[in-house]
Amino acid sequence: MYDIVIIGAGPAGLTAAIYAQRAGKSTILIDKAGYGGEIVNTPSVENYPGLKNVSGAEFAQILYDQATGFGADYKFAEVTGIDTAPGVKTVHTTAGDYECKAVIIATGATNRKLGLDREEQLIGAGVSFCATCDGNFFRGKDVAVIGGGNTALEDAEYLAGIVNKVYLIHRRNEFRGEKSTVERLKALDNVEFVLNTVPVRFLGEHFIEGLVVKNNETGEERELNVQGVFEAVGQVPDNKAFENVAALDPAGYVAAGEECRTGTEGVFVAGDCRTKNVRQLDTAACDGTVAALAASDYVNSL
Ligand code: NAP
Repeated sequence: MYDIVIIGAGPAGLTAAIYAQRAGKSTILIDKAGYGGEIVNTPSVENYPGLKNVSGAEFAQILYDQATGFGADYKFAEVTGIDTAPGVKTVHTTAGDYECKAVIIATGATNRKLGLDREEQLIGAGVSFCATCDGNFFRGKDVAVIGGGNTALEDAEYLAGIVNKVYLIHRRNEFRGEKSTVERLKALDNVEFVLNTVPVRFLGEHFIEGLVVKNNETGEERELNVQGVFEAVGQVPDNKAFENVAALDPAGYVAAGEECRTGTEGVFVAGDCRTKNVRQLDTAACDGTVAALAASDYVNSL
């Protein structure tokens, strides 16, 4: 039996494993997609305190080596459910069942994709899901931001301070995000609102050389000469398998505060899969720390 099973081996889960092992708790990380999480898709991480510049894949490898170096086990498998009988929890996976005393859910969230042709292929070649991670690569260039929520608005504002011009493309003429941010954006000379409009086609073979968008009222198409496309159309969490042990918010994230506790004793949550406003690499790592220390205290109390 393990002390702690950590579901998800992204930055939150791997950080939790480092802290749990150092607290003397036997730990296994279980992930259905390999270790590292979404960060492995980022070409360069330059906003993690203490690290000047490292690729997302390199960052994930360092974290993985650190966690397993402290003795954490790792299993490539999909978790299908959790049972919480008194005294013992059972984590069911496609590779068998794991018994443990505490569980940390750290499954992250995946960025919603637009579903355009060659989108996957162009990730890292002009298509990005993180303005604060990748904005610097587009210094002085023109970019498009897609979406009308707070992420899109904040990405547009952040990028406007770096790039030459930002086209903010939203499928409606009203924004879901905060009005105050919209007002600040309106005051910026290098931000153009392209409303009632959806992206339809990427231009450029190996990297983005433009974006074709379509006005969904007139049907008129327009070609934007952009080198970067920042997609901010929401995230998709995948926490259905844990509904019986952790309440989910309306968007499907595990409903829990900064202390990373779910409503079930001994079940904790960390990182992007938790209800929160800021989803960054370092906030995921912070959650991993908080959840691991809380889980270790819980195991000590048994
Ligand atoms: P979001 O609020 O779900 O907004 C997603 C946006 O993308 C919406 O405007 C939506 O359009 C649009 N969209 C969705 N699918 C699309 C598609 N296929 N094609 C084109 N557009 C599409 O996501 P988010 O902005 O990432 O924010 C997630 C949560 O984090 C929210 O609760 C947000 O308030 C919060 N957040 C807070 C802060 C902050 O407080 N500082 C910062 C960032 C995020 P419609 O509006 O038409 O549905």
